[in-house]
Amino acid sequence: MEEFLCTTCGTQYPASSIPLEECVICKEERQYINPNGQEWTTLDDMVHSRKYRNKIVNEQPGLFSLKTEPDFAISQSAYFIEENHFRLLWDCIPFLDQETIDRIREMGGIDAIALSHPHYYSTQVRWAETFDCPIYIHEDDKEWVQQESDKIVYWSGEEKVITDGLVLHRLGGHYKGAAVLHWEKSGAAGVLLTGDVIQVVPDRKWISFMYSYPNIIPLPASTVDRMAKKVASLRFKELYNAFNRHVKKDADQIVQRSADRYIRALKGEWFNT
Ligand SMILES: [Zn+2]
Ligand SMILES: [Zn+2]
Repeated sequence: MEEFLCTTCGTQYPASSIPLEECVICKEERQYINPNGQEWTTLDDMVHSRKYRNKIVNEQPGLFSLKTEPDFAISQSAYFIEENHFRLLWDCIPFLDQETIDRIREMGGIDAIALSHPHYYSTQVRWAETFDCPIYIHEDDKEWVQQESDKIVYWSGEEKVITDGLVLHRLGGHYKGAAVLHWEKSGAAGVLLTGDVIQVVPDRKWISFMYSYPNIIPLPASTVDRMAKKVASLRFKELYNAFNRHVKKDADQIVQRSADRYIRALKGEWFNT
């Protein structure tokens, strides 16, 4: 029996003798099955291959990014945030080895894991069991959880305070329960961590939104408008996405003007091609 892990999206499945024919997350319209055919590995095989390691970078006081090298599956980053002696892992990455465990224990361990949306659930149960902490997932995305665990706490409604200064806000859009993390940082400009629920584009002066990134399917104008209005109530100046792109200033205004541009594009009011 092995906990098979999809090599395209990094989702780990409950222990079984043979893997599924196709990954549930990948065969859905927001992802894709590997054009060469579904492939599986296991976390143990990844560790034993000695091919991978996690790079942990201190991005700013209280914030570290975690990224597996070389790239694996979706290749997202997770973030470790320390606020008032509480340590949160925002989103998750599939690879977890002893070196990573030792390093995170030196950093004080993990008190909770919170997820933006199902593409980053990956090996979240292994992480939660290793660090003995809860996993916060919006209940509207419950159907996408492949590996159930009593570590998972399904939250409901529009926001969830994890601890003072770290608050989840459901934005929807990419997934119904898609959430962003607001690191309020009292006395300083706040930081928004968005996964790819809000995506940062290459020049950092704009952000964007999608229902599906690999399949390039946009969101309706009304959904983008609703998401932008929710974000408008949050105090922040910086924004980090799941791919190590960092908007260093005026991120609040950038979200609003990007939403305006997106809606004008959808309505055919921006360009005539
Ligand atoms: Zn998959
Ligand atoms: Zn996604």
